[in-house]
Amino acid sequence: MTKLTMNEDLPFDETTTPPRVSTGDLPTAAEIQQLVTEAYELYRGDHSGTVADYIPVLAEASPDLFGIAVVGPRGRSFEIGDVAARFSIQSVSKPFVFALVCDAVGYEEARQRLGVNSTGFPFNSLMAVELNTERTMNPLVNAGAIATTSLAPGATADEKWASIRQRLSMFAGRELTMSEEVYTSESATNLRNQGIAHLLQSYGRLYFDPDEATDIYTRQCSLDVTVHDLAVMAATLANGGVNPVTGETVLRPGVCRRVLAVMASAGLYELSGDWLYQIGVPGKSGVSGGIVTVAPGKGGLATYSPPLDAAGNSIRGQLVTKYLSERLGLNLFASVPA
Ligand code: GLN
Repeated sequence: MTKLTMNEDLPFDETTTPPRVSTGDLPTAAEIQQLVTEAYELYRGDHSGTVADYIPVLAEASPDLFGIAVVGPRGRSFEIGDVAARFSIQSVSKPFVFALVCDAVGYEEARQRLGVNSTGFPFNSLMAVELNTERTMNPLVNAGAIATTSLAPGATADEKWASIRQRLSMFAGRELTMSEEVYTSESATNLRNQGIAHLLQSYGRLYFDPDEATDIYTRQCSLDVTVHDLAVMAATLANGGVNPVTGETVLRPGVCRRVLAVMASAGLYELSGDWLYQIGVPGKSGVSGGIVTVAPGKGGLATYSPPLDAAGNSIRGQLVTKYLSERLGLNLFASVPA
């Protein structure tokens, strides 16, 4: 396939251009709390979908676990359900690792080396690598994500892992640790990801040792989080890269908007178009049942519910996000006549 690309990036520099944004405010605190509660009550009885089992330990998660968290641009949170339940972050880590790599190598170089277009294939597809001459099409499916991890700052595997864990902890506003159980279970069964990494290396599109890159990627996916952590991480992306709870600057705003662009086009794998069409905001799902949604300038939303659809996206998470996107006014494409 021939590469079609927009070669020039936007000809302005966010560091010198005054900030202009296209977003408004969330409803009042009381309204948010009520809508979050309504969404929870409305969908807690939905038992469709299946819990992922291709990583053996994930199959043990209760299908009844269900939590919702919203964190606003000034750090206020609204939560309901199993908000203290811990689960492995899985693919929800991908946009955050892409963000730190953009910060390290520059978002334009990251685009050249990793790609930013959706693949139209499942998250662990080898066909997507074979059929596209660029090989990695975006950082939010496994091939591009492993390549992204291979670009993380650090000369050794330990340094790369430390930089990923440290930066994801800054996004969450607390020190994140890895679930040894998930890491061991996934490491014993991730032959497909090892295959992807070696295939990418054969095409010169991996930037570190393939086995070590896969191992760091598996660690990153095994970081333990709660739905509250994910909402704070999402809110940091919604807030121009500054964590609204800790006040810490995690990313430059120019990086943040590029990360959100890739989440909008590729965050829900082959269903990314359906997601954007129905919900209208950048999101990212993971196979343990988490979804983060980022409403730029307005805040972050996270859901946790393990039963998934065929593409690997949490079913209750999609329903809740659609419900709240409409009622909280999150859809980026919505306008009313002037
Ligand atoms: N660690 C998982 C994998 O590589 C992540 C997949 C996902 O969450 N979609 O298979």
